[in-house]
Amino acid sequence: MSKFCVNCGAELKDGGDICLKCGKLVNGESAPASTTITSDNAVATKTNSLAVAGFIVSLCSLIINFGGIVGAVGTILSSIGLAKLKKNNEKGFGLALTGIIVGAFSIIYGIWSIINLVNTVNYYL
Ligand SMILES: [Zn+2]
Repeated sequence: MSKFCVNCGAELKDGGDICLKCGKLVNGESAPASTTITSDNAVATKTNSLAVAGFIVSLCSLIINFGGIVGAVGTILSSIGLAKLKKNNEKGFGLALTGIIVGAFSIIYGIWSIINLVNTVNYYL
């Protein structure tokens, strides 16, 4: 009677405890089915998409500022992303944090630009 690898499902040679296909040590039929990892202990593999989006928007805000509006959008997206990635145990903490910092910088720069523009206009009036 043939035994099958619990890891990859390949047929094992009679009496063999090591799968020739994937190299995993198996105990034939008595081996337990692959354990399901609970979401609490799961290793974060997925990067939060909002954290990525916020990071990209914040980077764009350094080039296209629009009076800090682009930076504000980047900061908001990054903040939502940061909250969600913690809740869903996702990756992207560094991206979200950078998005918030860069976005905040763009808001300050945007406000400074507007004030500077107003002062320049006032100077010529
Ligand atoms: Zn195998």
